[in-house]
Amino acid sequence: MKYKAPTKQGYFGKFGGKFVPEILIPAIEELEASYLEVKDDPLFKAQFEELLRDYVGRPTKLTFANRLTDHYGKAKIYLKREDLCHTGAHKINNAIGQILLARKMGKTRIIAETGAGQHGVATATACAKFGMDCVVYMGAEDMERQKLNVDRMRLLGTEVRRVESGSKTLKDATNEAIRDWVTNVEDTFYIIGSAIGPHPYPMMVRDFHKVIGEETRTQLRDAENRDPDYLVACVGGGSNAIGFFHPFLDNDNVKMIGIEAAGLGADTDQTAATLTKGTPGVLHGCMSYLLQSEEGQIQLAHSISAGLDYPGIGPEHSYLFDIGRVKYYSVTDSEAMDAVKLLAGLEGIIPALETAHALAYLETLLPLTTQDQIVVLNLSGRGDKDMKTISENLS
Ligand SMILES: *Cc1c(COP(=O)(O)O)cnc(C)c1O
Repeated sequence: MKYKAPTKQGYFGKFGGKFVPEILIPAIEELEASYLEVKDDPLFKAQFEELLRDYVGRPTKLTFANRLTDHYGKAKIYLKREDLCHTGAHKINNAIGQILLARKMGKTRIIAETGAGQHGVATATACAKFGMDCVVYMGAEDMERQKLNVDRMRLLGTEVRRVESGSKTLKDATNEAIRDWVTNVEDTFYIIGSAIGPHPYPMMVRDFHKVIGEETRTQLRDAENRDPDYLVACVGGGSNAIGFFHPFLDNDNVKMIGIEAAGLGADTDQTAATLTKGTPGVLHGCMSYLLQSEEGQIQLAHSISAGLDYPGIGPEHSYLFDIGRVKYYSVTDSEAMDAVKLLAGLEGIIPALETAHALAYLETLLPLTTQDQIVVLNLSGRGDKDMKTISENLS
């Protein structure tokens, strides 16, 4: 149980904490107290589990990837199919969990930030299901690039607010969402989309996604009667990876690998490889590794996959990186594109570009394995949303 972190103040080692404007401290504390209250409440858990089962479609399958396994001729490869969740990715687990908490707290209005629009769509979906008012902040630049997701959110009854400040992308949308929260803290609940932000968000988001790892453990024991040798997942803010890893952290025989987006290369300035290239600092409410200049200016992240395009990473990943429990590597845009083609052709599954980063790392990992070993990869989402980018890169 040595990985039961965070501490009461929300620290994983030296990372995490709650770096928010003073006016938000009561809100953060109310949130934390409410979460700790419902966390082990059988009624809350039953309600959450029922929605995951009947609305999200859990448990998601664990698929043996026989052709991909034969392709490498080494360890057996299994895929945890989060692409089969309602809305096509893991993000809905967390959106549903936070909405239930918001309702429990008597909040009537939901706000969220979104970059690519995937978290915005998951939140808009959950708000429609519960009849909650929803406002999503999105950078003007991202609204142009992700028009389809803007239309999806509007169709679901959400108001999408255009953010024209700064680089007009995710980090600016996050700043606007925080500003809104400060102003409307009485009736408003802020749904954060990854395992980032001030305490208790990283812990809470992780807990709502832990079901991914728990199901994997049960399903693999049914299929193979043991735990895996390797877990591989992509890491943006780190929510799918931490939910997948967490139930296995205490088993030292399970090696874990998180894959960041290198963009054009981790040694260029067109990258999102936060742990590979970053240094510790504070962004959006917590201490973690960040892509920043020597003066502490946040750098623009780049990745072909919009969901990995963030200059920070969740504090628990920063901690697991520092203590060496999880290894983190990075994969470039073009390696990820090759992995999309490989999985589509061998398994009939078009993965999200985020997921493709984890898949690309199999090229490095599999030659180091043996046939009696087992690798499980978290297939965080499906690639339909990325077809435009994928098409442009095929030619
Ligand atoms: C958003 C997203 C990610 C990255 O977010 P994490 O919080 O790191 O999981 C990964 N895969 C898919 C399919 C996504 O939509």
